[in-house]
Amino acid sequence: MGKNQRLYNMEKVKFTFVYRVWAIIVYLHRHMLHIASFTFNPFQENTYVIYNDLYPECAIVDAGCFEPREHRELQSFLNSHRLVPVMLLNTHAHIDHVLGNAQIMDTYGLPLHLHRDELATYEDANKWTAMLGMPPLTVPENIIHLQPGTSIAMAGAEWQVLFTPGHSVASVSLYQPQQNLLLAGDVLFRESIGRTDLPGGHFETLIGSIRTQLFILPDETVVYSGHGPQTTIGHEKRFNPFLI
Ligand SMILES: [Zn+2]
Ligand SMILES: [Zn+2]
Repeated sequence: MGKNQRLYNMEKVKFTFVYRVWAIIVYLHRHMLHIASFTFNPFQENTYVIYNDLYPECAIVDAGCFEPREHRELQSFLNSHRLVPVMLLNTHAHIDHVLGNAQIMDTYGLPLHLHRDELATYEDANKWTAMLGMPPLTVPENIIHLQPGTSIAMAGAEWQVLFTPGHSVASVSLYQPQQNLLLAGDVLFRESIGRTDLPGGHFETLIGSIRTQLFILPDETVVYSGHGPQTTIGHEKRFNPFLI
């Protein structure tokens, strides 16, 4: 084998190696979802940004940003990560989860994804704004109705829409099976559950939702709740005082 041939072969090996590493990185990133969490408004609600390293398109779930500084905090995160929201979604329409919707819908020209039966909850939110001295909310007209039993795409991954009523009349949870991620809204919290004393709330329905829709998911599923820290399905099965 001549010197040139040897050099050529080495270059080929190097190229193949670099290509393989690159392909693995692309493969992993394609499947690597990130969930950034922000705690906003007087109710200490968790707003989530779902994104992927490879694409700028992201989703915002339960936009609770209310104060101008909270909007700025979210915006500066999006800017610094070069993210563009292409989906806005609510697990349910209690006031603490919808306060940021109008501004995000206007800024990015987005519809709101929400279960049809949560519209009444949304209308109800204005009882709270009046009571809390907040400016009145307008229920958005541009709504895409979430259908339990279907999947939606967020940040390049498919998320199953699970019907989990009981905290509110038509709460949904979103489950990503490949990475075992769950956005649970106010249905399940770390060692607690959502309150059931608000209109549309029902204790037995809530417990039923958790047992039949959430506790069938793998134990390692990481749960991102509407309030408080994240948890896992396995942890809640063992330690949640409402469910053990
Ligand atoms: Zn709620
Ligand atoms: Zn809440």
